[in-house]
Amino acid sequence: MSCASRRQSTQQGRIRLRTLSETLPPPQLPLPHFDIALPPPDLSRWQDGNCGVPGAYHFEATRPGPHVAITALMHGNEYAGGWALDHLLTHAVRPERGRLTLLFLNLAAFARFDPCRPTLSRFVDEDMNRLWQPELIASAHTSHEMDRVRAVAPILNTVDALLDLHSMLWPADPLFLSNMTEKSRELASALSAFQTPPPLVVQDSGHEDGPRLIDYVRFASNRTTAKACLLEAGQHWQPAAATLALSVCQTFLEQMGTVSPDGSTNSTASR
Ligand SMILES: [Zn+2]
Repeated sequence: MSCASRRQSTQQGRIRLRTLSETLPPPQLPLPHFDIALPPPDLSRWQDGNCGVPGAYHFEATRPGPHVAITALMHGNEYAGGWALDHLLTHAVRPERGRLTLLFLNLAAFARFDPCRPTLSRFVDEDMNRLWQPELIASAHTSHEMDRVRAVAPILNTVDALLDLHSMLWPADPLFLSNMTEKSRELASALSAFQTPPPLVVQDSGHEDGPRLIDYVRFASNRTTAKACLLEAGQHWQPAAATLALSVCQTFLEQMGTVSPDGSTNSTASR
């Protein structure tokens, strides 16, 4: 029974209809005030990209190696990862082997960030991290996020290893998310092991309302060797989230052989 239900009146011995006002839940409490200790980065100079796709930066080494990608700002108010990519681009980190893509996924949502209403810029039209399904990408469905997925999918279709940077609304310990494949869980575990303390690695099958980027068939199929994991770096707007995001980026690039473990991406930035 949902809005109304019947119950026995002990006084009158009659059936009484419970009214709507008796069964509605109390009004939802407003969200608490969040401390924006980490300001949004200035990403204005990274809008255009360098490979024909806005917000996408692609670099190639002369020596062979995997195509490695780091994505940030899937959700517009999760800009700790944006700080990390800004650092890598500002310090001109380049692959010594293979190819490197640094990709700001949803700069339009990020541009809407308002510190007075910091929860309202997660997306423009819909959650971009529920759209990574080939049939949906090929469909007529359209939205800002859907169009953006279509724009960047050709890049991601050639990626061998992906790190997707996110953060969380409520204060919580950082964690890694992996799809159900062993290859992706191993990637998350290897990245976690280099942090102190090592974040928890959670392996799950995703959401019923649509696949995440880490569930995209290229990364979630055992028919490919491509792997992906997602970092939840901590609370969105705390400096520690940006520090961890950059540290994990450095570990990721070193483990993939993209850069040497000599501090090429050195986390000299406080964020
Ligand atoms: Zn997110």
